[in-house]
Amino acid sequence: MTDLLVAEGLVRIYSARRGLLGKAAPVRAVDGISLCVRRGETLGIVGESGSGKSTLGRMLLGVDPLQGGEVRYAGTPMPPAGTAEWRRLRARMQMVYQDPLSALDRRLTIAAQIREPLDIHKIGDAAFRAARVDELMRAVGLRPDQAGRYPHELSGGQRQRVVIARALATGPDLLVCDEPVSALDVSIQAQVVNLLRNLQASAGLAMVFISHDLKVVRNLCDRVAVMYLGRVVEEGPAEDLFADPRHPYTRALISSVPEPGRPLDGRVILQGEPPNPAKRPPGCAFHPRCALATDICRGSVPQLRKAGPGRAAACHHFDGADAARAA
Ligand code: SF4
Repeated sequence: MTDLLVAEGLVRIYSARRGLLGKAAPVRAVDGISLCVRRGETLGIVGESGSGKSTLGRMLLGVDPLQGGEVRYAGTPMPPAGTAEWRRLRARMQMVYQDPLSALDRRLTIAAQIREPLDIHKIGDAAFRAARVDELMRAVGLRPDQAGRYPHELSGGQRQRVVIARALATGPDLLVCDEPVSALDVSIQAQVVNLLRNLQASAGLAMVFISHDLKVVRNLCDRVAVMYLGRVVEEGPAEDLFADPRHPYTRALISSVPEPGRPLDGRVILQGEPPNPAKRPPGCAFHPRCALATDICRGSVPQLRKAGPGRAAACHHFDGADAARAA
């Protein structure tokens, strides 16, 4: 598979104020991330809230500006956001957000909203657009007789189908899905995940799937990148990474997912508070929660290094006796 999108050294810094009168402090929401998305694959991005995964997703599409690094799409640097060239490219890359109700316009029928990208990008004439809306509605499991309905007349699952149909309208090569099922009822989540999987297979789409739900990621994704406080700490093929996590954080995340047959006392428990992006610990940012931390972890930032075929992990002690000790 060839690379569709390549990101190198991405940086995004926010300014966060502590308390009403506190001084503003820089928060490195995305801190030097490099990754690639190959044509036709699904890359999962996982991590706790505050890890920077949503910011990263928006940066990949140019929705959030880069403060460092570069994104190349099909070998070409991403044009500056808002330019005509960028808008043309955006037709090839679409985003599906978490909350379908806020992503849709309550005043427009769902047909009008699915057609909107075709209108904006001036694709086809009126007859083509009507036929395309009909085709997309069927593809996502909506009935053509629902075309005249408004978002509030649909269920949460149906609304997310509308959002997905609209994202597919221009025939994109890449879909960035940011927690696309977490606002839906559990009973609906599997349907929407299956829909995404089927659409991806039939259209040959590449997909970035951002989620905190490791079960879904394991089922859907070809490769996974694990984020902690703005950095990728482990990446690799999904099957290998779930079977043999190399980073202690990945190990704890996976261990926290209940599995039939796995005894509770065999779990690796994630210690301490969830990370505060405004207070990055020195050295390895995970060290206050890591049972394997040593002096080097507190003083030196581990870099991503090879951890097997197609795999990398950022940990001073991911291999050898330490890995066995943590298992
Ligand atoms: Fe734990 Fe040290 Fe590895 Fe960080 S570098 S994950 S503190 S063992």
